[in-house]
Amino acid sequence: MSEIHERPPVDRKARLKIPAQHIAKQAPNARINNWSEVYLPLNLETARVEAERCIQCPAAPCQQACPVGNDIPAALWKLEHGDVLGSAEVFHGTNSMSEMCGRLCPQERLCEGHCVVGKNAKPVAIGRLEAFVADARRHESPPPVTPASTGRRVAIVGAGPAGLTIAEDLGSRGHHCTVFDAWPLAGGVLRYGIPDFKLQKEVVDEWLERLAPLPVEFRVNTRVGEGESITVDGLLAEGYDAVFLGHGASVGNPLEIEGAELTGVFQATEFLSRGNLPPDALPADMRQALFVGRRVVIIGGGDTSMDCSRTAVRLGATEVTLVYRRTEKEMVGREEERQHAREEGVKFEFLCAPVRFLSNNSGRVRGVELQRMELGPPDESGRRRPQPVPGSEFTLEADSVVLAIGYSADECVPASAKGVVYDRWGILSINRETGETDRRGVFAGGDDVNGADLVVTAIRDAKIAARSMLAHLEALELRPARAAS
Ligand code: SF4
Repeated sequence: MSEIHERPPVDRKARLKIPAQHIAKQAPNARINNWSEVYLPLNLETARVEAERCIQCPAAPCQQACPVGNDIPAALWKLEHGDVLGSAEVFHGTNSMSEMCGRLCPQERLCEGHCVVGKNAKPVAIGRLEAFVADARRHESPPPVTPASTGRRVAIVGAGPAGLTIAEDLGSRGHHCTVFDAWPLAGGVLRYGIPDFKLQKEVVDEWLERLAPLPVEFRVNTRVGEGESITVDGLLAEGYDAVFLGHGASVGNPLEIEGAELTGVFQATEFLSRGNLPPDALPADMRQALFVGRRVVIIGGGDTSMDCSRTAVRLGATEVTLVYRRTEKEMVGREEERQHAREEGVKFEFLCAPVRFLSNNSGRVRGVELQRMELGPPDESGRRRPQPVPGSEFTLEADSVVLAIGYSADECVPASAKGVVYDRWGILSINRETGETDRRGVFAGGDDVNGADLVVTAIRDAKIAARSMLAHLEALELRPARAAS
């Protein structure tokens, strides 16, 4: 198949006439009764025709807009010629988690939003095609071979997208990686934050299974940080040659209003974890049955709030209301997510904010007092600032409330690393070109550096850090490596 590596000029006019292929989804009334992914699997013929819609423009603005710089035209060229695994290898060259990104990236503002075909028609469905070939690679490509050991040891804090990318990149070069994670299973946000209807857990499990031949060891249910038995300073003192901090930003921001401590008021992470995972995949203190009730109010306007509202629907709630203090125009999440939520029956209350949570006689939330807002002048984010409308209070009855109002990083982790600089939200300071923190040998990337962001940006950061870590480890060659434990 050597000819498919060469890309002769294509007939762009003919390609622009190829209709966008139908990407099938489950109907809303079917999908609210199951946890399967909304999008149905593509078949090869549909994927090949959709890939052929790519006009192979040399400037490849899609590639420029992709945070990891995927060579999309090259990958789609292979796919349209039937070389599915070759296509997957092109994506995998820059993206360790194509199956996740293909499903989760906001393509409309990244690759697909810059697709030239999309100027006059639907853009090429790059994300679904990337997921399609990556799924095939996971199932059909041989696993990686076990590399010769370098004797070098790397500690990775956090088994989410950034940490796992480091583990794959460094492990495949023979460096022994120990991945520490506070949760019972690896995967981080991919397992504990993203519901099955967007990313099935099997995809995460299968991805992890492919690490088996590599020198990657997981230490789950294990916290690293100040006040814990394992600290970053301790790891370095113990002989790890480098540390990567990829613990993310999963500490839910509190809402300091009356009633926030009531039973039935959840942080999004707890709600999503308990709602989407079986008890044995959860920490011991989160295994009790989740009572959601019939009426659920979600506070927040990002993609996590949509995930919570759609999880509530699948848990049996019949009145799910999402409350946001600005208008839909100011929402930062994906339009597609809002559309999916609406199709599934979620109601939106814009321009209102919670004032207090109301309690029943037994200390459980029974409602939310809300106040109408109006938009004033722009704030520091550039969005118009919501301002309360006096006397506009009203009540929404609720059996459960979920707070999805942003996340901070766990500052206990950097607090245990002398010399690592971080701010009051626990966000780490790094050299963006190398991923290194202010402490030599300690690298970081992902949400603990960016604040809550995309899976693909965490992978981008990890790729940058992995390159620097490899150079750092090679530079250590001058002194003898310790034996891997
Ligand atoms: Fe598009 Fe995301 Fe894939 Fe990049 S990683 S090509 S932005 S879906």
